[in-house]
Parts: sequence; C-alpha cells; structure tokens
Amino acid sequence: MPDKEYYQKHKEQSMKYNKKYRQEHKEEKKKYNRDYKEERKDETKKYFEEYCKKYPERILKTRKKFYQLHPEKCGEYRNAHKKERMMWNKRRKYSFRNAGELTIKTIQLVYEDNIKKYGTLTCVYCHNPIQLGKDSLDHKMPLSRGGTNNYENLCIACRSCNSRKNVKTPEEFREFIRITNS
Ligand SMILES: [Zn+2]
Repeated sequence: MPDKEYYQKHKEQSMKYNKKYRQEHKEEKKKYNRDYKEERKDETKKYFEEYCKKYPERILKTRKKFYQLHPEKCGEYRNAHKKERMMWNKRRKYSFRNAGELTIKTIQLVYEDNIKKYGTLTCVYCHNPIQLGKDSLDHKMPLSRGGTNNYENLCIACRSCNSRKNVKTPEEFREFIRITNS
C-alpha cells in the first residue's frame, strides 16, 4: 500500500477511534471538568481579578472580540445598562467641558518634541522606545480629573504604561510604579 493511502486510512481509523472514545467518556469528562472548576472557583476568581488589574487592555480586547462574535449579546448588555451609560456620558461631558479642544497641531507637536528629545519615539514613563502603532497620547492629568488638552498636559506613552496609568494622576502613577516594582 502506498504511504499516502496508508496514512489516510490510518488517520480515518484513529479519528473514528478518538470520536468514539470522546463520546463514551463524555459524561465522565464533563463531570470531571465541573468538579475541577467547582473546587478551584475561588482560586480562579482571584486569578482572574489579578489578571484584569494587570492587563486591562487584554480584557478589553477579548471583550471586544466577544461582542463582535456575539452581537446579540452586545445589544442585550447595552440595553440592560442604558441608564448607567447615559449617566456616565453626562458626567464625562460635564467634567471634560473645561478641557479645551484637542487639536491635530498640538498632537503633532507632542510627537515631534518627543522624538527631538529622545531621538526616537519613546515612552515617557518606562523610557522604552515605542514601536510604530504601539504608541498612545497620554494625558498626564486625566481629563476625568480635571486635566486639559493643552500641550503641557500631553505626553507619549507606550500602550502598556498608558493602560496601567489609566485615570491615575502623575503622583498616583509614580506611587503605583514604586509599589509594583518593589
Ligand atoms: Zn511605557
């Protein structure tokens, strides 16, 4: 028998066997998974919470992907939280009204000056050079906490630092880095 044929036949056989095995042990496996999950519930929850804190950007990405795959769930969620969202937006608008307009000219200047200062686009927080597309414009004092869109309040951060900083003030972020690095 030529190799290819043998391989094909063998493959079919083993697939059939695996399928049969899976079907026969389905309930067992389900139960095992359930017990395992139940046993580790607290541990998993804690791990997940830690993970969310550490990598908020990954969670966001996963969530976005999920909603792209299940748009119907997205609608459900949006409807259920409509009121909260409206209030949140209102509050945001209110607290941002003194921030001034963010202009392209200012953004350009922030990027140019960063490159002039460091030689290449560099994160002001971790001082690592930033790959194109991984950069973000950061508000030193977050808009939600009274920061403005003025040149002085803007800097370039890598995505990782930006999401770690989130809505912390510069002082809070420095403290955060000190604690997480010690
Ligand atoms: Zn950084």
